Amino acid sequence: MDYIEIEDLEIYAKHGVLSAENQLGQKFLVSAKLYADTAKAGLTDCLDYSIDYSIVCAYITEYMQAHTFKLIEAAAENMVNDLLLSFPLIKKIDLTIKKPWAPIGLPLKTVSVNISRGWHTAYIALGSNLGDKESYLNDAISAINSDNMCMVDKVSDFIITKPYGDVEQDNFLNGAIKIQTLYSPNMLLEFLQKLEHDAKRVRTVHWGPRTLDLDIIFYDDMIIDEDNLIVPHPDMTNRDFVLTPLNQIAPHHMHPIFMKSVGELHASLLSRN
Ligand code: AMP
Repeated sequence: MDYIEIEDLEIYAKHGVLSAENQLGQKFLVSAKLYADTAKAGLTDCLDYSIDYSIVCAYITEYMQAHTFKLIEAAAENMVNDLLLSFPLIKKIDLTIKKPWAPIGLPLKTVSVNISRGWHTAYIALGSNLGDKESYLNDAISAINSDNMCMVDKVSDFIITKPYGDVEQDNFLNGAIKIQTLYSPNMLLEFLQKLEHDAKRVRTVHWGPRTLDLDIIFYDDMIIDEDNLIVPHPDMTNRDFVLTPLNQIAPHHMHPIFMKSVGELHASLLSRN
């Protein structure tokens, strides 16, 4: 992807673990690669379609001076999120904060932290089969959209489905959404589990009734196999209640393991049933 690069923007600020650093301040050098599609700006010669780097430089300077962090890791993490939220054309940022005067009593050139953060695309399956199911799903979607680390792009219709597994219970209402998020996969899972918890979901019976169930189906093209998180969701290919709404909003999205589109997986499930 195209990028605009700012190199070694000099800022006098007060970050550091030592109280002297917080009081006296020191020099920091900030570099940033701002990833964005610059083609339209290039073809039209119009700044409205690009990122005004003078504004970004002023923003970084003001941010670095308005806050005092102990760690440059924290300065970088917080500032990069703010930049991504404030400049919608920026899809990803590689940020470096260098400390050329790090007070360690030894002659080093610089010490720096380098991070890369950006917007990710995730698909989430939603389900409810207790209480006011439609409100549970709509409230979850609103909560996701109002979180400043997420933006909901697409929402499927909600469908009524039969319960999965052997437990006697009410029908489900299911849907799927496409979101943009700044959360890492594990942070997104944590956030969704908090929403489930807030909806007073009680985990009593496996595959039993629940007020709200939120599963991460895809996260970019990532394949994750951790104890608490498996992406793509391992059961998605057998679940009509996931594939039907997902097919409505993302029929061409490719499953990164099976290398089949959601539409193909959906058709294959229907032919098996
Ligand atoms: P469930 O009862 O179906 O919502 O399952 C919840 C459990 O599945 C939690 O302990 C999660 O850590 C785990 N899990 C594994 N992969 C995923 C995923 N892709 N999305 C949501 N939960 C997941």
